[in-house]
Amino acid sequence: MMIVMKESATEDEIGSVVEKIERAGALAHRSQGARVTIIGAIGDVEQDASVESLGLEGQPGVDRVVPILKPYKLASSQIRHGERTVLDIEGRKIGGEHFALIAGPCTIETREQTLTTAEVVKDAGAALFRGGAYKPRTSPYAFQGLGQEGLRLLAEAKEQSGLPIVTELMDMRDLEPVLEVADVVQIGARNMQNYPLLAEVGRSGRPALLKRGLSSTLDELLMAAEYILKEGNPNVMLCERGIRTFETAYRFTLDLMAVPVLKELSHLPVIVDPSHAAGRRDLVLPLSLAAAAAGADGIIVEVHPNPDEAICDGPQALIADEFADYAAAVQSAAALAGKAFTTA
Ligand code: PEP
Ligand code: MN
Repeated sequence: MMIVMKESATEDEIGSVVEKIERAGALAHRSQGARVTIIGAIGDVEQDASVESLGLEGQPGVDRVVPILKPYKLASSQIRHGERTVLDIEGRKIGGEHFALIAGPCTIETREQTLTTAEVVKDAGAALFRGGAYKPRTSPYAFQGLGQEGLRLLAEAKEQSGLPIVTELMDMRDLEPVLEVADVVQIGARNMQNYPLLAEVGRSGRPALLKRGLSSTLDELLMAAEYILKEGNPNVMLCERGIRTFETAYRFTLDLMAVPVLKELSHLPVIVDPSHAAGRRDLVLPLSLAAAAAGADGIIVEVHPNPDEAICDGPQALIADEFADYAAAVQSAAALAGKAFTTA
């Protein structure tokens, strides 16, 4: 249920509606728009019924009561009345007219590789540096990431380049060390439906980049985002990274329709990962241009100084020496959608 307050509603009137909702056992989520305040009454079916029986329509300051039709509530565009969420990661804005280029290696391998890549992507206009210390690998025999040593190198890369860090959390037991370094916690495609992990990241309050599961629908992605939002963490970015389809000519099918459709369904920023969808370097530029022109709020892309020697995902990594040209092209495509690169 969504309670839209009148423009003239006073703080006391808003407070009284919040109190009634909470007394009915539901969560009252206040969203302050440019003109009006919207209070989301979030709860299960029973709590919804209790809120409905409050007769809030007649309350002072209430304009109207509208049901939220989607199964996700806080992620729904309805709750923000058309306003978009803009994240602020140490001064880098993501969403609205701001476009974030997030770049770095698939996995942290060495100090040299990490620091070189961070400098290159920073000079080319990247807003954030990505790199995995804990890697979700299909084979249990493949390199699983440097773990704590990788986190230490990420911290050094941030110190040197000034770029905020995006890194993946796979296991709740690593939450504390990951939070020491991550400005944005990445939830990988394989963990999109790891609900206790999502709730934990929600409780941490740290901005999250939530990847779409390999075979997940947009509704399932938005329900996963809801798990984070529900814990009081509003800083969620959605990420399209390619899904499984019947097509076998490439690794995954990058679902670019997800960009405008997610932006219709939700107020959250939408990021595109062309690297994991393609699995091939030559496809990364055209997919990036298409994503940026389609209105994505950012791109997360893999870069390596020497992809032939990369431990992980080398064939899809952009070559660091060519990254500045790539970034300039993406910048022009983002401009087509009315967006500018965000930097500090
Ligand atoms: C990654 O970003 O390196 C990664 C493993 O991504 P995904 O979870 O989308 O496969
Ligand atoms: Mn990768």
